[in-house]
Parts: sequence; C-alpha cells; structure tokens
Amino acid sequence: MERTEHAGADAIVVGAGISGLVTARELLRHGKSVVVLEARGRIGGRTIRARSDAGGLVEGGAQFVKGGHTAALRLLEEAGIELFASPSGGEDVYVEGGAGRREIGPFSGDPARARSYEALRREFLDVAFSYGAGEVVRLADANELDGTTLSAWAGARADDDGVRGRFLTDTTFGMGSTGGDVSLLAALHYANSAGSPDLGHDRFIREGFSSLVDHLRSQISGATILLDAPVESVARVGELLSVRAGRRHVTAPAVVLAMSPTLLRRIRLDEVDGGIDWPPARYWRQEPSVKAALDYDRPFWSEAGLSGNIAGAGEIAYVINTSTPDRPQLTVLWNLGAHGRGREEIRRTILDHVSEHLGPAAAEPSGIAITDWSLDPYAGGCGSPLPPGVLTSGDPFAATLAPGLLRAGTESSPMGWGSVEGAIRSGIRAAEELAR
Ligand SMILES: Cc1cc2nc3c(=O)[nH]c(=O)nc-3n(C[C@H](O)[C@H](O)[C@H](O)COP(=O)(O)OP(=O)(O)OC[C@H]3O[C@@H](n4cnc5c(N)ncnc54)[C@H](O)[C@@H]3O)c2cc1C
Repeated sequence: MERTEHAGADAIVVGAGISGLVTARELLRHGKSVVVLEARGRIGGRTIRARSDAGGLVEGGAQFVKGGHTAALRLLEEAGIELFASPSGGEDVYVEGGAGRREIGPFSGDPARARSYEALRREFLDVAFSYGAGEVVRLADANELDGTTLSAWAGARADDDGVRGRFLTDTTFGMGSTGGDVSLLAALHYANSAGSPDLGHDRFIREGFSSLVDHLRSQISGATILLDAPVESVARVGELLSVRAGRRHVTAPAVVLAMSPTLLRRIRLDEVDGGIDWPPARYWRQEPSVKAALDYDRPFWSEAGLSGNIAGAGEIAYVINTSTPDRPQLTVLWNLGAHGRGREEIRRTILDHVSEHLGPAAAEPSGIAITDWSLDPYAGGCGSPLPPGVLTSGDPFAATLAPGLLRAGTESSPMGWGSVEGAIRSGIRAAEELAR
C-alpha cells in the first residue's frame, strides 16, 4: 500500500552526498524542516569508507584538497579535520613507452621537452585564468570553445606525442577522462573553477572526506533521513511537490535534487509543470574510476631514493604517496571507465604496476583496499569528461528547474566543479535560494 510520509516538511532533499547534506544543514540553520531521501543504504555519495583486506579503513572516494577550494578548507577547519601534505623527497617515476624513468619534475632529464610541456601547460592555464572565477562557460565565445577538443588545441601547439599526452592526462584526469579527449571549454572551466592551478594531489585528508560526512551528519540530527529510498519521480500536486520512492510518497513545497546530471535524468519530472527537459542532463557523460590504497609496513621506496609517486602514460595514471608519519601508504588513482575486469585482475594489474616501478617489495602490501566505482549504480560515474557541445546545450549551472524544484550537486556549481568544493557550494546556494 502507498504511504504518504512526513507531510508538513518545508523541503525535501533527494541525495545524501556532500551537496545534499550541506543543503540539509543550511536549511536547518535557516529554520526549515527537512526530509532527506537517499537511494543507497548509506549517506556520503562519492565518499565511502573502504575496508582493506587487512581490516583497516580507508577512503574509497574523495580525499585530496586543492589550494583554491576555500569552502572545503573552511568546513574542514570548522570540523577540526587535519590536512596532510604528500611527503616530499626522493625522485618520482614517470612511465613513458612502457618504461619508467626517474624525475624531479615533468621531463626533468630532458630540458627541451620540459620547456615544451611547461609552455603548453602555462598557455592553457593563462587562458583558463584570464577569465573571472567560474565565468568561463558564460563567455561570449563559449560555443566556439565548446566546439573543439582539448586534444585538438594541444595538437596545434605541441608535436611531441609524449609531451602532449602528459599535458592531456594532467589537465583532464580530475574530470574523469580516460583518454584526454574532452571539450576545450569543459577543460578550461574545470581548471578555472578549481580556483588555483595545482593538480590537487599535494594535500589530503588521512581518513578522506568520509570524515567530513561524519561531521555533517552530526549537524543534521534535526532532519529526517530516509535511506534505501531511490526516488523515481517528482510531480506537482496543488501547491506541493510530491516525491515518490517506491511505495513511499513525501510531499513538501520545495525539493532539492542533489546529484549529478546522469542520475538526475533517471528521475521522472514529466508531471512538474508539463514536464521538464533540461538538455545538459540528456547529454551528460560521467566515467567511473578505480581507487586503491596500499598499506605497507615501511616506506621501502625511500631507501631507493624514490618519492613513491608514479605518473605516466600507461593505464594507471597516478600513484600518490599518501603516507602519514605512522602509516606508509600509496594511493592508486585509475580512470578505468566502464570495464569488464574482475577484482583479482584489477588487483594484479595494480600490484604489477607498483612493483615494476618501485621494486618487488611493492608487490606485498600489508593491506590493500580497492574501490571500483563502476559497480555502484548510484555513483553514475565519478568525473565528467564532457565531449564538445554538452556544456553549452543549456545552462549547466541552472539552480532552479521549476518553481520550488532546485538542483544541487557538484556538477551544478560554477566553482569547484566536479570536486567536494562544488558540492559544498551548491548545497549552500540551494539552501539560500529556498530561504529567500
Ligand atoms: C574515486 C573518487 C575520487 C575523488 N577524489 C576527489 C578528491 O580527491 N577531491 C575532491 O574534492 N573530490 C573528489 N572526488 C569528487 C567528489 O567525491 C564529488 O565531487 C562529491 O563527493 C560529489 O558530491 P555530490 O553531493 O555532488 O554528489 P554525490 O556524492 O554523487 O551524491 C549524490 C547522492 O544522491 C544519491 N542519489 C542518486 N540518485 C538518487 C535517487 N534517484 N534517489 C535518491 N538518492 C539518489 C546518491 O546515492 C548519492 O548519495 C572524487 C570522486 C571519486 C568517485
């Protein structure tokens, strides 16, 4: 039998990722009553505590913080969550043409290639940061920039495949790219919206953004949170919006859909004001990633003068040293996309990669935790490697889809797009909009 629950709430938030949790927290602060509906049996969205095979808990999702992520830094400080710096010292390994070489910076052993890489990256960042913060998509020439790819832009400037490939990976990895071929506009926007030009692997939270989720959860005890409630549709019924999740019906004057466009397009909105067709959701693309944490008894790589960091043109783009003083650890970031590989194959590929480039001791971690986001139907993917034409198919940052029906989610934020920063900002924006 169908049930209508929690009638009388001021707002419904659909999605309990960081953007939904921040929306709920800010609405409560504005004195509103809130019901949160979450599809999964847990909160946190694209953050998750993963258990290693040795029993330890690590972050399987968001963990790194960029210098320009001011809203995230503020919230982390408020929550008393410490940031660690990736240990410095030792040489990095860069993999090109199947072979690894030691470096202290991109192409440090080859000054001509180093200059070429630096010139390409400098020019790109100069263009990206010549626009106001978060303004790139609103430019007069946005359509033109969205009509071409970053790889075409790079191809017109550098003829060294290796230099170009590295630039493309460094620039688009955070967007979830599996091959670097994204819209030039999307790449410029991703860089600009980060607020500062670092790659974002230097500073991290030891326990990941799951610890921020714990903090946010502790602050929204006044909200009702319904788990295992995948929302299927929103309809307007008189003055109210009615949200349906299976046999559950929840009604309120306002609804915030706090999720990515690929997940939003699964929710039927055809009974809201004659139907809502928001083109960016129709065309949006997200790709899933694999993240792994490898724990070791000792930082054996430093004995060989290595930093533990590996980057490269192979399948696995980055291995980052995320050790803290009492926990030697390497983190693997792998934009694998949708794939048909089993867990054991993924594990073997990771261990072969680290042992080939850091030595045989790397093949025997004391614990390994692998999070394969392609197996999670409510991630919708991780980053958004958008092809040409998507960002300009409609306002990608539209906050209001219909009266009382709002969007949040990192993909809706002009700043911190694709990162926790954007999730936080979008939640604050949605709550402010409703509190007016
Ligand atoms: C492997 C990985 C590494 C990352 N690393 C970093 C990093 O180092 N730093 C960084 O800043 N960012 C990182 N990110 C990105 C960051 O995790 C996201 O930008 C952020 O968590 C997004 O939050 P959100 O609330 O916008 O969306 P989500 O976290 O995706 O939350 C959306 C929520 O909506 C729920 N939902 C979806 N559909 C429905 C429905 N129909 N009904 C009810 N609920 C629904 C989902 O279950 C989910 O809980 C990473 C992401 C991944 C996956």
